[in-house]
Amino acid sequence: MKPSITKLRNYLRLEAKKQYNNDAIIGGLESMLTHWTADARADKIPEAIVQAVIVRLRDYHNLSPNSRKEVLAGLWKRIQRELGAGALDDDLQPTQRQDPSSTQSLPDTQKLPPKIDTAPSKHKLPSKKLSKPNPKIIADLNANVTTLDKIGPSYAEKLKQLKIQSLGDMLYHFPKRYVDYSKLKPINQLLYGDKVTVIGTVQSIYKRSIKSGRTQLVEAIISDGSGALKITWFNQPWIINKLKEKTQISLSGNIDHYLGRLTVNNPEWSPIERKHLIAKGITPVYPLTAKISQNWLRLRMEDVVQQWADKVSDPLPLSLRESAEVMDLSIALQQIHYPDSWKKLELAQHRLAFDEILLLQLGVLQQKKIWQERRARAFEISPALFSALLARLPYTLTAAQQNTLTEIRKDLASGHPMNRLIQGDVGSGKTVVAALAAAIISQHGAQTAIMAPTSILADQHYKNFLTLLALESSNLAPEEIRLMIGATNESEKEEIRSGLASGKIKIVLGTHALIEGPVTFANLQLAVIDEQHRFGVNQRALLRAKGDNPHILVMTATPIPRSLALTVYGDLDLSVIDEMPPGRQSVETLVRYPQERELTYNLIRRQVESGHQAFIIYPLVEQSDKSEEKAAIEEHARLQKDVFPNLKLGLLHGRLSPAEKEAVMGKFHVGEYHILVSTSVVEVGVDVPNATVMLIEGAHRFGLAQLHQFRGRVGRGGSTSWCVHLPSKSDAIENERLQAMSETNDGFVLAERDLDQRGPGQFLGTRQSGFSELQMADLTNLDLIEKARRHAQAIYHRDPNLTLSEHQSLEQRLNRFWQLNSSDIS
Ligand code: ADP
Ligand code: MG
Repeated sequence: MKPSITKLRNYLRLEAKKQYNNDAIIGGLESMLTHWTADARADKIPEAIVQAVIVRLRDYHNLSPNSRKEVLAGLWKRIQRELGAGALDDDLQPTQRQDPSSTQSLPDTQKLPPKIDTAPSKHKLPSKKLSKPNPKIIADLNANVTTLDKIGPSYAEKLKQLKIQSLGDMLYHFPKRYVDYSKLKPINQLLYGDKVTVIGTVQSIYKRSIKSGRTQLVEAIISDGSGALKITWFNQPWIINKLKEKTQISLSGNIDHYLGRLTVNNPEWSPIERKHLIAKGITPVYPLTAKISQNWLRLRMEDVVQQWADKVSDPLPLSLRESAEVMDLSIALQQIHYPDSWKKLELAQHRLAFDEILLLQLGVLQQKKIWQERRARAFEISPALFSALLARLPYTLTAAQQNTLTEIRKDLASGHPMNRLIQGDVGSGKTVVAALAAAIISQHGAQTAIMAPTSILADQHYKNFLTLLALESSNLAPEEIRLMIGATNESEKEEIRSGLASGKIKIVLGTHALIEGPVTFANLQLAVIDEQHRFGVNQRALLRAKGDNPHILVMTATPIPRSLALTVYGDLDLSVIDEMPPGRQSVETLVRYPQERELTYNLIRRQVESGHQAFIIYPLVEQSDKSEEKAAIEEHARLQKDVFPNLKLGLLHGRLSPAEKEAVMGKFHVGEYHILVSTSVVEVGVDVPNATVMLIEGAHRFGLAQLHQFRGRVGRGGSTSWCVHLPSKSDAIENERLQAMSETNDGFVLAERDLDQRGPGQFLGTRQSGFSELQMADLTNLDLIEKARRHAQAIYHRDPNLTLSEHQSLEQRLNRFWQLNSSDIS
């Protein structure tokens, strides 16, 4: 059968499968005519047949599904008769022959895997052919891309920008999304608000400027035979050079409307090849960089996957693959790029995610072992001395604080470096625990550094440490405890540096100023990192490097869901402070509508009258060109003038110098300000027990975990406190999300919800998410993580250094994985 006839048959089959709805192809069957007639003539198909096809299909869209079925059947009969083509459904198994409109019987479905159960775990291992690759040819994942067909030095250079340098990088450059060309919506069926992919032809494209030349627009009209859609790209003028008229493109975006017409603004787009319209169901869309086109990458990828995917040696021994019920790696690599079905894609993702977690876990276990094998100076404190330390505190420690301290004392005395994470909700009292650890170190004349993310916090810690430790009865003098932040003046910095270098200063508290300057320590034995999620792993490593295998204590108030803690912090020992100091009031949490703002102002007035203080937080407000600072500055002026003319309002934002911030915080602390208007800089650790109201404007912009941090700023004294969330719109969905805040005061529960709602990237923050190789693994998928962890532990216990021959390939893969990640992991 001539190619054009085969193609026509594919179209018709697809149409039958789609119940003759004329949506098998975007724009309807008739939209294929232009291309097809050209192909058919090139194939020398008799003109009479070509004309018959044109005539039948031209008005196809006007017919009812039943008539369409008849027309197509008649058309195909004629082709069969005159060209001797096979039946429309000739390659079906005879037993499957059924009504052609039933999807079951269509040849297309034969490409699908033979019925896979929905649960990925039930997946059967694939055929023998792939699980036994030709042993002679094994892909070298480290082979340079230039050894691949049609990739020369100049493309190799461009691929570098995508972090693709080797065959392995190429195979592991996964699509960011997929387009299912069999499931596209024609333009005339699009609805306002749809989030869709459409394909069509560029009818016209032009560039213009608005707002006196400051905004450049590229506008295009895309049509698919069913209708036309207006596309606008803002400030991406280069698109005009890339996208020409008559190009077929696929674009994805949100359907909007403007002056009664449907439009899409700033869609993602890529040119498409005709063959994807029919032959391929699910087509990959790759992350790109300038100078590399989607089509070029697809073509190269097709070659690479076809040639190499089945030659990649599977790092998981067969027995492991079987017990973990994961797909063969070769198949997963093929399916991740060119999925036969969504189901297979899911299985492929499952396998690749499993690998990531497994490798991460194995690495973490090995890392932990290396760590534990190192020697460190042992620090002990006699029970009598320790009791004396405790007795000087202004309060009794909670049981959770005591347990944590017991664990820390054990670590410090062990002769191996401590590597412990203290996780404790806001206000649970982590600072005093760190202070006591520092006291143990200083008893022995050694040094401690405590690094906090903001100067406000460093300053607060400094004052705390002074009151907790530098008492008359203690052997620490105030000048042995120092603060070093960006605002510290140069001569004092110099003095601190020399005090640290000589060992005279025992405890230094500070910001990243501690690691940035040429600070050296005589004998740094304990490094404490507070609010550790606010630091990059490199910063933590830098502090650690100031000593020689110092003990490490990291603290966080961000409750880390178990699934994340197990993977991301797997090499740390964990202490949880899960108990609040006595006398804490739970905070009355409200979600109010914008129109109820005045109620909250009244609440603030009443609280101030009874001697308390309040916070008002402004994130970036709606007008998107405003900065967070600007919002806070303007609102501060408005509140002072119109709302609280008789009260004193302080203003805190990120653009103030550290000294200014410190001054504002100081005044708020001693009650000189009644209200502190602030950007999100107060989020972390700030402790003003007299504050009883926290009003969060634009609350919908924050994650639940962050809101919980804000809430933790109040309810610290013994008085009833309020936390009021004011989303800037009365948006039902958003407000429902915020309701979670009033439902629970448990930071862990909120963190889990955050993780569900926003995903790990958002949750951890960009600096934290570090693990560049975790492309696939969804850290919310606890089942997968636990499965991979279990298997990693089993491997590790049997063969910790991966020396068994069955683990050779795994060992290589592990090295590769950790090389790629080494800069990310402390
Ligand atoms: P976080 O864990 O959020 O860093 P802090 O260390 O700032 O919490 O402690 C919050 C407040 O609780 C501080 O005012 C501190 O003095 C107080 N605090 C800490 N431990 C106790 C305790 N055992 N009993 C009473 N108050 C405590
Ligand atoms: Mg704290």
